[in-house]
Amino acid sequence: MQDCIFCKIINGDFGTEFVYENEDAVVFKDINPKANTHLLVVPRIHVESLNELDDEALLGRLMMTVKKAAQKAGLSSYRTVINTGKDAGQEVFHLHIHILSGDIRL
Ligand code: AMP
Ligand code: ZN
Repeated sequence: MQDCIFCKIINGDFGTEFVYENEDAVVFKDINPKANTHLLVVPRIHVESLNELDDEALLGRLMMTVKKAAQKAGLSSYRTVINTGKDAGQEVFHLHIHILSGDIRL
């Protein structure tokens, strides 16, 4: 999607480093971290939010991606957050899963 910042990141437009990636998703550091480690798991397909995702298998694989990215980052204890909709604090309307660990401020 043209005006989506996360689609641009996935496309490599900003040279963002991916700490983990697979066929389904890329994982990169949040630009405004709310914990010592704050990663975002972002599906490669543009889906606005959890409300628009109908693919159960993809959702399962995204959660496995959370686990693998956390393992790769050396995290054994972490919080996952999905903000769905403006009133819940969603700011970027491309589905993403936050991974937070250490001194969590969210
Ligand atoms: P949410 O409020 O759940 O939509 O979360 C959006 C997150 O994306 C926020 O924590 C932002 O700090 C983060 N963010 C926004 N733009 C970027 C970017 N260019 N690179 C990395 N993280 C970003
Ligand atoms: Zn997008």
